[in-house]
Amino acid sequence: MKGRKLLMIPGPIEFEPEVLQAMGMATTSHVAPDFIEVFGNSLELMREVWKSPMGQPFIVAGTGTLAMDMAISNLIEHGDRVLIISSGYFGKRFEDISKRYGANTTILEAPLGEVVSLDSIEKELKTNQYKALTITHVDTSTGILVNPKPIADLAKKYNTLSVLDGVCSVAGEEINQDEWGIDVVLTGSQKAIGVPPGLALLIASQKAMEVWENRKTPVCNYYADWNNWLPIMNAYEERRPSYFGTPAVNLIVALESSLKIICKEGMDKRVKRHRGLAMAFRTAIASLNLKLLPKTNEIAANTLTAVYYPKGIDGTALLSKIANDNVIVAGGLLAEIKTSYFRIGHMGSVSSNDLISVLAVLERALLDLGHQMIAGKSLQTFQNELLKPD
Ligand SMILES: *Cc1c(COP(=O)(O)O)cnc(C)c1O
Repeated sequence: MKGRKLLMIPGPIEFEPEVLQAMGMATTSHVAPDFIEVFGNSLELMREVWKSPMGQPFIVAGTGTLAMDMAISNLIEHGDRVLIISSGYFGKRFEDISKRYGANTTILEAPLGEVVSLDSIEKELKTNQYKALTITHVDTSTGILVNPKPIADLAKKYNTLSVLDGVCSVAGEEINQDEWGIDVVLTGSQKAIGVPPGLALLIASQKAMEVWENRKTPVCNYYADWNNWLPIMNAYEERRPSYFGTPAVNLIVALESSLKIICKEGMDKRVKRHRGLAMAFRTAIASLNLKLLPKTNEIAANTLTAVYYPKGIDGTALLSKIANDNVIVAGGLLAEIKTSYFRIGHMGSVSSNDLISVLAVLERALLDLGHQMIAGKSLQTFQNELLKPD
């Protein structure tokens, strides 16, 4: 009995042992040659993961929310119009942030379990000149996956900047930042990128950097201002010492380690692994007479799954039974339905064995609570899905 727990929430996730070891190394000076090299490498590796050879990467201590804040505060000036395309809790966060910087916001909210239609987005873009639009790639509150490409195409057509919240998608879902022409793709370290919480990461396009350079008013956020951070990123990339705010040395060492693991696997293979496991997992969940929050498979995320509690089953009791079996899953997050569903994260280092453990523990808990199902059904389904040829 090791009392090992399996952390299956949508971030923080289970981290690779090498990443945790890297994190535990003796802290060096932030201007030590070795660390400068690590920082520079990390910036370069980010471009590979984001598929943005032309973009400007930023690595700053903070959370995913800081990355959202950084994108909006640098690109938006008082009175600018921002179109928020929302499929849950994190979409609305963009509205709050944009308003804080004086933006004139319009929010298009998807019906529960669905995505916002392209028609309604185009109609808005035709009606008003928007400075930027925001997309939540995977909304972690609903497990909804949005296809960013056609939205980025519309943004280009109507001369609007596109900002993609990739906190629950970067290094898990398909992203081609430069090819798709997305102006900012942002994330936080603790999700699919596989590093303990504490880093805000983003890549801005050349167009985004030009828009920022041509601002008429100063950025209304001192810490997030690219004026402070761009020279630092440039210095590290040119392998020169520099200072604005002390970088999170150990986290950045861990980041380099994780980015190397990701690039070694290769982004295409990594996306395919996430997709294969997620599809098999959704089929297995459905075989237990459980309902998923996303209405169709095409808009279901591959980094997490949101599942309704079955009728007559007490959600709190279910989650505590699962936790007692040393598997940690997450409850609901979207206020309207918070107590009627739960979420399982499956991103980063996730393997089929992890998901088999989740299914086994979930089955026992459901059977214990009297849910009508056949014991072993989801395990059998999962195995059969995995054994199917591609
Ligand atoms: C987790 C998450 C965030 C917020 O990230 P923090 O690191 O918690 O600040 C934002 N957007 C999405 C889609 C997320 O999953």
